[in-house]
Amino acid sequence: MLTNNLKRHSPTIAIIGGGLGGSLCACFFAKHDFQVHLFELRPDIRTQKTVKGRSINMALSRRGHDSLAYINCAEMIANTGVPLYARMMHDENGHTCAFPYGPYEKDPNHMILSVERDALSKCLLDEASKSSNITIHFEHKFISWNRDTKEALFCTSSGTQVKFNVDFIIGFDGSYSSVRAAMMKTEKINLTQEYLDLYYMEINIPAKDGQFAMPENYLHIWPRHKFVIIASPNQDKSFNATLILPISMFDSLSTSEEVLQFFQQYFPDVLSFIGSDEIIKTFRSSTPRPLITIKCSTYVSSAGDMLLMGDAAHSMAPFYAQGMNAAFEDCLVLFETLKQTNFDFQKAFIAYK
Ligand SMILES: Cc1cc2nc3c(=O)[nH]c(=O)nc-3n(C[C@H](O)[C@H](O)[C@H](O)COP(=O)(O)OP(=O)(O)OC[C@H]3O[C@@H](n4cnc5c(N)ncnc54)[C@H](O)[C@@H]3O)c2cc1C
Repeated sequence: MLTNNLKRHSPTIAIIGGGLGGSLCACFFAKHDFQVHLFELRPDIRTQKTVKGRSINMALSRRGHDSLAYINCAEMIANTGVPLYARMMHDENGHTCAFPYGPYEKDPNHMILSVERDALSKCLLDEASKSSNITIHFEHKFISWNRDTKEALFCTSSGTQVKFNVDFIIGFDGSYSSVRAAMMKTEKINLTQEYLDLYYMEINIPAKDGQFAMPENYLHIWPRHKFVIIASPNQDKSFNATLILPISMFDSLSTSEEVLQFFQQYFPDVLSFIGSDEIIKTFRSSTPRPLITIKCSTYVSSAGDMLLMGDAAHSMAPFYAQGMNAAFEDCLVLFETLKQTNFDFQKAFIAYK
C-alpha cells in the first residue's frame, strides 16, 4: 500500500471521474486557483486508438455552452462541431419534414451544436492538462474515503492500492458511481435507479462522394413508435447514428438476413446510405448497451464534504439530449454557490443541494 500526501493548498479537492463533467469541473477549480486532483478509472483516452461505445455525438445546448464559456473553451469546442438548426423527421416511405428548434436556432450563442463525444472529452482533458493546478491520475479507481483520517483509497490498473489525503470529494463518476455507493453507506439517500427496456447501438453513416449523405445542419430522426434512429453530423461529412431498440428486438436480429430485412422494412434510406455489408459488420462487432436513469434524494453528504454531480447524481434518458448539458451546468451552479459563500466549501456543498 502506498500513501501519497497531496501538495497542500487548502483545501485539497479530489474529483472522481475524468469524463466530460469531471474534466470540466477540474478546469473550473483551476480557474479559481485551487489545486485539484482528477482521478479517472480508465487510461488517458488521448492515447487510445478508438474508444468503442463512447463515440456518440452529443447535442451541446446553451446550458452546456455557457459552462464551456466560463473556462474560455466554448469557441474552441464550437470549431469542432456542426450547428443544428432543426430536427428532420424521416418516415418509412423516405419522406422528410423539418421542425426548427426555435427563433434563436441560428444565433451562435444559442444554437445547438453536434459535437463528437471523444473530441469533446479530449479537448477538455487537454485544457485540464495545461493547468499547473490540476493533477490528473489516470487508471485510478476510487474505492472508498475515510472521513476521520481523510484518506481516499484507490486501486490502480496494476492492482496496487494507493491512498491520498483529501478534504473534499466530488463524485463525477457517472451513472454507476462508486462515490455515491460510498456515500450511501453512511448517508440516508433515497436512490431510484431504472433500466429502460431500450438498448442502443452506434451506427456510422459515411460521407457519400465526399459530401454529407443528407442535409447537414439537422438532427435526423427516424421515429418508429417503439424504436428510433437518431443521427447527427460530423465535420468529416459523416453522421453518427444511434439505433435505440427494445432488447427483445435486438435479440431477434441474430442473422444477417434478419438485420437486412429489419432495415429494409423500417429504415430503407439508412440502409442505402450505409450498405448491407457495413450494417451487418456493425451488428456483428457491436454489443447493444443499456440505458439507465438515476435520481437521488440528495447530492451532498450531511457533513458537506462529499458531493455528487453529473450522471452520478441525475442520469437521464438520452432522448432529452440534456445529460451532458446538465452535468456542465452543475459546474456553473456549484461555482455560483462557492462564490456566494466566499469559497467556504462545506457551506457551498450543503447549499448546492
Ligand atoms: C446514447 C447516448 C446519447 C447521449 N446524447 C446526449 C446528448 O446529445 N446531449 C447531452 O447533453 N447528453 C447526452 N447523453 C448523456 C451524456 O452522455 C451524459 O449525461 C454525460 O456523459 C454525463 O457526464 P459525467 O461526466 O457525469 O459522466 P461520464 O461521462 O459517464 O463520466 C464518468 C467518468 O467517471 C469514470 N469513473 C467511473 N467510475 C470510476 C471510479 N470508481 N473511479 C474513477 N473514475 C471512475 C468513468 O470512467 C468516466 O470517465 C447521451 C447518453 C447516451 C447513452
